[in-house]
Amino acid sequence: MIDYQEIIEQLDDNKVKSMLDRFEIPYEDRGNYLVMPTVCHHASVDEASWKLYYYKNTHIFHCFTEDGSQSIFTFLKNFYTAQNIVYDWYNDIYEVIRGCSHFDGDKIVTNTYRAVRDKYMPQKDRRELPAYPEGVLNIFTKYYPIEWLSDGISKEAMDKYNIRFSPTQNKIIIPHYDAAGRLVGIRGRALNQWEIENLGKYMPVQIEGKWYSHPLSLNLYGLNFNKENIKEMGIALLFEAEKSVLQFESFNMPNCAVAVCGSKLNKYALDILVRECHPREIVICFDQEEEPGKQDYFDKLYNLCSKYRVYANFSFIYDKEKLLRLKDSPSDRGEEVFLKLLEKRTKVY
Ligand SMILES: [Zn+2]
Repeated sequence: MIDYQEIIEQLDDNKVKSMLDRFEIPYEDRGNYLVMPTVCHHASVDEASWKLYYYKNTHIFHCFTEDGSQSIFTFLKNFYTAQNIVYDWYNDIYEVIRGCSHFDGDKIVTNTYRAVRDKYMPQKDRRELPAYPEGVLNIFTKYYPIEWLSDGISKEAMDKYNIRFSPTQNKIIIPHYDAAGRLVGIRGRALNQWEIENLGKYMPVQIEGKWYSHPLSLNLYGLNFNKENIKEMGIALLFEAEKSVLQFESFNMPNCAVAVCGSKLNKYALDILVRECHPREIVICFDQEEEPGKQDYFDKLYNLCSKYRVYANFSFIYDKEKLLRLKDSPSDRGEEVFLKLLEKRTKVY
């Protein structure tokens, strides 16, 4: 088990500063803390307000506008996402942070992150993700975690998607396949509370010292299983998390769900979907995030759909009737609720 906590505790503030320099994030050192623009959610450094703090004693980033407290792991993930930079968890987050820490400091630090922007940005020629041998999954046990069974994910669904469990890492193991069914990554759903709070629920998995990570935005989870349904029905349902794709297996309607594994839709993933399935309509089924009385989230989804409308007819699910709770995925309350939401989707065409 990797000691993330130790890595965070032994962060070197000067190394954190040089990391910010390399990412061209300006900051002001005010002694006990650093102040910088809120690049955790703002794409433009110049337009962002200076309300992101890094506290030297706790090594915690705090965004006073949107994101609240973030460990350095979460901060980097947010930063890449906000900047629309395709990242690989191991090279672009783990290695970068380990390089800022005294923990495990005897290892040679790679400077791979210098080239992050160029490395994974979609290029004209499509790149195929490297595949891992299927056999690496055999190290994990077959087990149906109660957390998922009680969340509407059936044993049959877990069998079909080859879900495993790691007792030593206390994680649900989720193999990621590309459209052709090649194993391109393995992610773990953490069940340990500290990990969930400081690193996030979903993370790549390490097996015997090797990371099975892949740039998530270059792939759509579930497409290998559901592309025929999408072709036949002419509709693709884009969810945030793998869990929704699995929940959908228990619905009566054909499973047309795929997951972007984040809260962004990347042009590259969209290209894959359009190329493989030619859907007439793409429905964004992202988690419910609107605070009561606000409209920001509606606007965000609307703009996302408008941006890509040349590719297909776009629409999005927006819960006007409060059928979902905050942070729920549209699939979380079962098929009946999902169908109501789908019927009332907002069309951007
Ligand atoms: Zn923020």
